[in-house]
Amino acid sequence: MAGLGKVYIIGVGPGDYKMMTINAAECIRKADTIVYDRLICSKALSFAKSGAELIYVGKQPDCHEISQEGINEILVKKAEEGKIVARVKGGDPFLFGRGGEEAEALSENGIEFEIVPGVTSAIAVPAYAGIPVTHRDFCSSLHIVAGHERTDKENSSIDYKLLAKIGGTLVFLMGVKNLSYIAERLIKHGKDKSTPAAVIERGAAAGQRVVAGTLGDIAAKVAEAGINPPAVIVIGKVVELRKKINWFKKGKLSGKRVIVTRAREQASKLVEKIEELGGEALEFPMIKTAEPVNFERFDEALDNLKSFQWLVFTSSNGVKAFFGRMAARRMDIRLLSGIKLAAVGEGTAEELCKLGLYVDYMPQEYTTRALAEGLARIAAAGDKLLLARAELAGREFAEILEKNHVEFVELAVYRTMLDSRDKEEILRLIDEGKADYITFTSSSTVNNFLSLIGHENIGRLSNTKIVCIGPITAKAASDSGLKVAAAADVYTINGLVDKLVELSEG
Ligand code: SAH
Repeated sequence: MAGLGKVYIIGVGPGDYKMMTINAAECIRKADTIVYDRLICSKALSFAKSGAELIYVGKQPDCHEISQEGINEILVKKAEEGKIVARVKGGDPFLFGRGGEEAEALSENGIEFEIVPGVTSAIAVPAYAGIPVTHRDFCSSLHIVAGHERTDKENSSIDYKLLAKIGGTLVFLMGVKNLSYIAERLIKHGKDKSTPAAVIERGAAAGQRVVAGTLGDIAAKVAEAGINPPAVIVIGKVVELRKKINWFKKGKLSGKRVIVTRAREQASKLVEKIEELGGEALEFPMIKTAEPVNFERFDEALDNLKSFQWLVFTSSNGVKAFFGRMAARRMDIRLLSGIKLAAVGEGTAEELCKLGLYVDYMPQEYTTRALAEGLARIAAAGDKLLLARAELAGREFAEILEKNHVEFVELAVYRTMLDSRDKEEILRLIDEGKADYITFTSSSTVNNFLSLIGHENIGRLSNTKIVCIGPITAKAASDSGLKVAAAADVYTINGLVDKLVELSEG
């Protein structure tokens, strides 16, 4: 039997994934199985290692929730299988997060676990609305209350009489649906109607909305604005400070969620721009790398390294795969002595730097075409090149070398495969109306996306706008049956972002 695994009960904070702690990111990264809730920001999952199993235990499409016992059982079972499990929750796991119950179940079953505290919405969400939960001039206590309980319920533990008198700031979680009841109770027990109050919907996230008023009118204002959970209610004088210290700026993409189908280094720039404009980028890599099916050709090339004068890399994945195989065969790096190194661009060169290897050639423009043309220019007569690339890499590189009579061997050092674990997560976001846009930056991302979600699911995308980087990508998308909302006028990442802004403002 495999040894017992371990469970990390992790809080990832509310809204903005940047509130995750370093510990949370590290624990998610090392987990084999990730068990996650509805309120977590989906970006937290992008820290998962490739191949990790994702289990969603939030509200199901049929509105049923998996029971707490059911969740406990999953945690225990996975740990018993020897898995490292990340149990990921919004905010802090021990504040109305049932982390305590899960820890008890693990303890009862003799399973090792760790608690990874998180930033709680009770404090951070008001902060994002410019409300400090305490302030020396106004109050010196903070009371956090579960707002979904009703005191007419038998055994309720909430004493509104006490809360009305206590004087400190009151924060209610899970209370929007009960807001008028909460306000009435507090007023009935003597709390002043004019006490400032605010409700923050989807705090620290792209769609944050704040409604401010007084205890007397807040319920009506919130109903009028159509505020929905998740939201935090804050009651107390500190709410007034919002007028002075409201710092969270809305960008041109505020409230918008954009699915980014990753195509290598382009994605991070796109994600950065979307986030700068206040939008939320939902990143799906779609592609994962895997080892070649067999190592015969790979090993043969490694055994004949001395017959090459150049070793050429077109991606950092290629570098990792090449040196990974050398290490697996315990081949000493000094076997490369005398062989020149070429890299397509900075990312690839940096990966080599980590190994103490510095490139002899890198083109000015980071494309495989520029790399091939450059090498054809500088390779000496009789030089033989070893190209360490992905399986099914394009033909352009080889064609340029052939045309210039440069001798080379093309070697597939890794494969790229569809990462199917994202399928359910993407469809869930789309079905729940949580994706305003899907962006495509190349025809291959269109194809990957469709292979991943399946053609039969195209109909589910009707409320999500598809935006492409240019006409070729747009054609690939419409030829595949997707309804394209727009293509960028300028065919760059900036052009694509401008188009998103235009659609959002329109
Ligand atoms: N453990 C969580 C709270 C879980 S209870 C924490 O520490 O934050 C769920 C409640 O948290 C929601 O009903 C809502 O009141 C609040 N909440 C969580 N995330 C929120 C967000 N981004 N914006 C507003 N409220 C949020």
